[in-house]
Amino acid sequence: MGEFALYSLSRGILDSFNYTIALAENTVQNGANYFFDCEVTGIRWEQGRYRLFTKQGNFTAKWVVNSAGLGCRRIAEMLGIHGYTIKGSKGTHIILDKRTGPLLPMPVYSVPSNTYMGIHVTPTVDRTVTVGPDAEYMEDFWDYGVHQKNMDYLAESASSLWPHIHRADYIRNYAGTLSKWVDDQGVIHDFVIETRSEAPQVINLMGIESPELTAALPIARYAINLLVSRNGRTKTMPLNRNVKASGDL
Ligand SMILES: Cc1cc2nc3c(=O)[nH]c(=O)nc-3n(C[C@H](O)[C@H](O)[C@H](O)COP(=O)(O)OP(=O)(O)OC[C@H]3O[C@@H](n4cnc5c(N)ncnc54)[C@H](O)[C@@H]3O)c2cc1C
Repeated sequence: MGEFALYSLSRGILDSFNYTIALAENTVQNGANYFFDCEVTGIRWEQGRYRLFTKQGNFTAKWVVNSAGLGCRRIAEMLGIHGYTIKGSKGTHIILDKRTGPLLPMPVYSVPSNTYMGIHVTPTVDRTVTVGPDAEYMEDFWDYGVHQKNMDYLAESASSLWPHIHRADYIRNYAGTLSKWVDDQGVIHDFVIETRSEAPQVINLMGIESPELTAALPIARYAINLLVSRNGRTKTMPLNRNVKASGDL
């Protein structure tokens, strides 16, 4: 059990699914288009613009914002930018039954390390409780398997924060992998948002890891301001303005 804690008055929880849907709806209202299931397989610089090749047709874009998560290094390489190193860190969560929700009025976190936020217990807007995540470096970014040993480790570690974790309340589990940016010396850093001389008119967002759902709006503003300052404009503009699809899209 911990002996001391910091109480954060401004903490909050949100429904991450509805939050992202709401943001998507808002961007559509502002003129953006979405193209789903549309993997970028190649990028070529042509006459001051980029041509993006996808399985659903090609696009031209004056600017490319590389925010491809675990795919950000691959996109960077398509753009001719080499040398970024990304590690995949897999985290597992357990979800506890709604009857546990009233026992946890606020999220409880352990002290984070430099590179990992630590296992925490969090009430959800649905009144369930999530326990996790652990952190395992993975070669395979797309392995979503959940293993008993990880769940046992989570339950044991988180019980020192909150004593109501019982197997009878487990209703679901899940795992996800986030991207961590590693520098030339092998040191893991927060993340990087930058332009690079090798590829003009590109904003690279590398290693956008937790808590970057929380930080999504400031990150977007920072990236847009970078784009605007490089573009020689003084006002922000909708990101889709210079993107047009060809073919049947
Ligand atoms: C277990 C776990 C727990 C987390 N907990 C929290 C938390 O409590 N709070 C918090 O704030 N954050 C949390 N995060 C982090 C948060 O989920 C991520 O930081 C955030 O999702 C990153 O968003 P993104 O848009 O940069 O990348 P992503 O959400 O990964 O989106 C990248 C998109 O690019 C697409 N893409 C990739 N390659 C290509 C290609 N070649 N062509 C076309 N599209 C491509 C992918 O399909 C994907 O849709 C957690 C993450 C994990 C894994």
